[in-house]
Amino acid sequence: MIPVVVALGSNLPPRRETLLSGVRALAHLPDTRLLATSALRETAPLDAPPGSGPFLNGAVLLHTTLTPRELLERLQDIERAHGRARGAPNAPRTLDLDLILYGELQLHDDDLIVPHPRAHERDFVLEPAADVAGSLRHPGLDRTLAQLRDARRAGAASETPASGTGGAETGGSAP
Ligand code: AMP
Repeated sequence: MIPVVVALGSNLPPRRETLLSGVRALAHLPDTRLLATSALRETAPLDAPPGSGPFLNGAVLLHTTLTPRELLERLQDIERAHGRARGAPNAPRTLDLDLILYGELQLHDDDLIVPHPRAHERDFVLEPAADVAGSLRHPGLDRTLAQLRDARRAGAASETPASGTGGAETGGSAP
């Protein structure tokens, strides 16, 4: 069984019900066990079209023997089953599921990049991911999720309003 972190996000109602339904669908994937579910956090939309609502974000830790590609296809099936339509980039979405870590695999295909390339820069991914799998190592950065989260927290705390554009990113769930 491979430990896997999947991030969830939604910014179209009913967000909480959709995320909980998404978690249930993940728990029912074949050859997969749900080990932990994070709290759900509300985050401001990031780089999203005007009028986009706030996100609700979370993450789960799974153990699976599905391959990364099988898992991606299953995630996309679950997104579609929850009414996800592919619109403009970062457009509001009923359910977004991203494969964040697949054990310590590093993969760089056209349609699948693991670890997720922006996960470590995003509080709305790192915070829940570290909740459920803080000791998992990010293979590209050679640090655990908890270490990456703590470094971002420390960076945010040391910034002053006068320090300009480097504020911690809090917006939700765009790819
Ligand atoms: P979105 O659902 O809008 O977040 O974007 C999904 C697109 O990103 C799909 O075309 C996927 O093939 C691609 N993608 C690449 N890497 C990943 C990943 N680690 N998790 C989820 N989708 C990914």
